[in-house]
Amino acid sequence: MDRNRCRAGPLLKEIKRRVDTLWSRLRALTQSRFSLPEPISVNWIAGNFLMGDFFGAVKCRYGHPVRLFNISRGHFVACDECRTYVFVGSNLMSCWREETEDIWRRNSESVEGYEFIE
Ligand SMILES: [Zn+2]
Repeated sequence: MDRNRCRAGPLLKEIKRRVDTLWSRLRALTQSRFSLPEPISVNWIAGNFLMGDFFGAVKCRYGHPVRLFNISRGHFVACDECRTYVFVGSNLMSCWREETEDIWRRNSESVEGYEFIE
């Protein structure tokens, strides 16, 4: 009986270790699923914006020039003619990492008073 108990100890530990590993993998998987951007439809129109098939293809439907900018890891496209801006995703390109909070503050100020298109 004592011998069996000695064997069960390490086995239970091993099972617990495996369950913990699986659990943390599952958690990582679920988290990364939730942080994935929504698929953007080619024909999706949001306000004055034609969303295109990826975040770099966003256009103003009135043909105005648009500009892409970051606020922290978030990417936005603004049309200065329509005075609107739209969120196009986060962390899709790494350039935001080289930017400073000063840049993000100025970017944020550049769309002050603009309508945010959801
Ligand atoms: Zn426009």
